[in-house]
Amino acid sequence: MSAVYIHIPFCVKRCYYCDFITYAGQGHLIADYHNAVLKELEFYQRFVTEPVSSLYFGGGTPSLLPALAVADLIQAVELNYGLNPNAEITLEANPGTLDLQKLTDLKTAGVNRLSIGIQSFDNSDLVALGRVHNADQALEAISLSRQAGFDNLSLDFIFGIPGQSLAGWQKNLSMAVEAGVEHLSLYSLILEEGTVYACMVARDELTLPDDDLVADMFELAMDYLAAQGFQQYEISNWSRGAAHQSQHNKVYWQNQDYLGIGAAAHGLLAESRYNNIATTPEYIQRMRQTNKKTQLSPVVEETIPISRKDAMQEHMILGLRMTARGVSASEFNLRYGEELETVFAGQIQKMLALGLLEWMDFKDGRHLRLTRRGIMLGNLVFQEFI
Ligand code: SF4
Repeated sequence: MSAVYIHIPFCVKRCYYCDFITYAGQGHLIADYHNAVLKELEFYQRFVTEPVSSLYFGGGTPSLLPALAVADLIQAVELNYGLNPNAEITLEANPGTLDLQKLTDLKTAGVNRLSIGIQSFDNSDLVALGRVHNADQALEAISLSRQAGFDNLSLDFIFGIPGQSLAGWQKNLSMAVEAGVEHLSLYSLILEEGTVYACMVARDELTLPDDDLVADMFELAMDYLAAQGFQQYEISNWSRGAAHQSQHNKVYWQNQDYLGIGAAAHGLLAESRYNNIATTPEYIQRMRQTNKKTQLSPVVEETIPISRKDAMQEHMILGLRMTARGVSASEFNLRYGEELETVFAGQIQKMLALGLLEWMDFKDGRHLRLTRRGIMLGNLVFQEFI
């Protein structure tokens, strides 16, 4: 295992659509949280046997952490596990929390990839989403990141925002391309339980765009970005060349082990999935009392063993998300000692017949992947493998 995720569960305010585990108004806990994360990193020292090649600060809003705290955490990863000199070190950033000094300090700390939550370049979309930043700040964040020396930038966008038109979405895509960034992540707005949006929809105060318009927006992104030289390597992710694909997220899609550190983080370790306690004060409290001799981290709430059958199913569902490479038949065989075509014979035949999956020849043999129609109907394909 060589990937580490650190969850930073703090935000300035909660966006209307967001159901991530993150808290507004807990800024006073940041210093204690940082110390707790340092202890949790130490705890896993005995489990990590190779230097880390990808470190990801996700959230929440990791850019709310002082750059010195980020530097400290990167050093702790290096000290406890070793850090590959070419490791990808990503930090998710909110444009409302960045200035040139902060960005320069983050770069000096060792962060070499920023994932900036732009969501839209249109102020009315940003107000509709409840974001803390405006379009000018979003553009400035990109420009300041370049000035600070970041040469690997990813931008996050949302489509299917209430009131958003196809033309408005096209404008966002054009501006993202003009910004000259290396990577784009595009997500359709999903109505999640417990969010402000869910309450508004229940009270008939909000209407979401219809499914056809959202599908048109997705197809527009696929066609336009391909024409602009981006490769769609995962359902929601596009990069300029393979070198700029997210190394960290590929660990998830390839169903490989990773450490999840922090409140509400989850990880995959030794054929088990684990989930950490979600509340920040309790996470801090438990890490304060930790006894390093215990086998299980004191902040782990739940451990779920993954059976061989579950692992093979997850391998398919996650692997097929990688739209360019799909699932390699030879890798599957090597990992599970069984033929992909035999284990999932019925499902594969059905999806091939429906034109949702296709076989492609690669250097290491055949890969099974989604067709364009399959990309549009991904959930239907994934359900077959459960
Ligand atoms: S900034 Fe991100 S994590 Fe925080 S509330 Fe908004 S969408 Fe959620």
